[in-house]
Amino acid sequence: MSRIAYVNGRYLPLRQATVHIEDRGYQFSDGVYEVCEVRDGYVIDQRRHLARLQRSLDELGIAMPMSETALAIIMRECMRRNRLHDGIIYLQITRGVARRDHGFPPPGTHPSVVVTARSIDFAGNERTAAEGLAIITVPDNRWQRVDIKSISLLPNVLAKQAARERGAKEAWFVDQDGHVTEGSSSNAWIVTKGGKVVTRPADNAMLRGITRTVLIEVIEAHGLQFEERPFTVEEAQGAREAFLTSATFTAIALVLAVTALGPVRRPLTAPEPVEVEALAAEAA
Ligand code: PMP
Repeated sequence: MSRIAYVNGRYLPLRQATVHIEDRGYQFSDGVYEVCEVRDGYVIDQRRHLARLQRSLDELGIAMPMSETALAIIMRECMRRNRLHDGIIYLQITRGVARRDHGFPPPGTHPSVVVTARSIDFAGNERTAAEGLAIITVPDNRWQRVDIKSISLLPNVLAKQAARERGAKEAWFVDQDGHVTEGSSSNAWIVTKGGKVVTRPADNAMLRGITRTVLIEVIEAHGLQFEERPFTVEEAQGAREAFLTSATFTAIALVLAVTALGPVRRPLTAPEPVEVEALAAEAA
């Protein structure tokens, strides 16, 4: 079955789903995105993803081109047309199509909207989570507003590629003070020897992951020791465990063999139950 994408009002086979070459997303990375997990035909944490999308748009001064309800209907329709049961939905909104000029385009330029859906082998992810994965560390050379989920991801692309070339699956960005900010596409966590779960506060130097927010709620609901503070690579090396979170790596992927970080660590048992906000209630 060929995949179907939504592009600016139309549902099209992926091969025909194209955007204009003067789209500002293509020309300037002038846009934002979201990735939502779909499980059993439900969009997980949809409300939070759409709220973060709205915030990213607001920070960049791009108008939300449709209501949240309309966007949710498009997401559901993409799931239905792709018979998506387990996977991800990708949403992208750019400042639209205009003659190439760095400044904002004239008022009335419509933002472009793209929505795609694809299946994911979550069983494979769970195996990885059980086995753990290797990471590398790279200097954080990104701009100061990575709290905005913008499609400008070149440093993240290069970091992920550097990880792969060294046989690792993820790269942790490290700031000038030696603190881990986040992964190239995930948030970073450790569990200290004393059993405290630690993750960096969500400042402008990292993306406030939805999975991170949900996990903090779960940790607090379970009365686990938790601290939001920066941690260093050395602290991660000496930690009992280290792990990462992202919507595609649903709950938790464990960083067991951290490249250059030393010994293999024991897997952390995933806290249960992971809270699910099933707002798009219609099964695909
Ligand atoms: N940080 C970065 C840089 C990311 O790309 C992602 C994945 N979107 C995350 C953190 C995790 O965010 P979420 O839990 O919302 O997927």
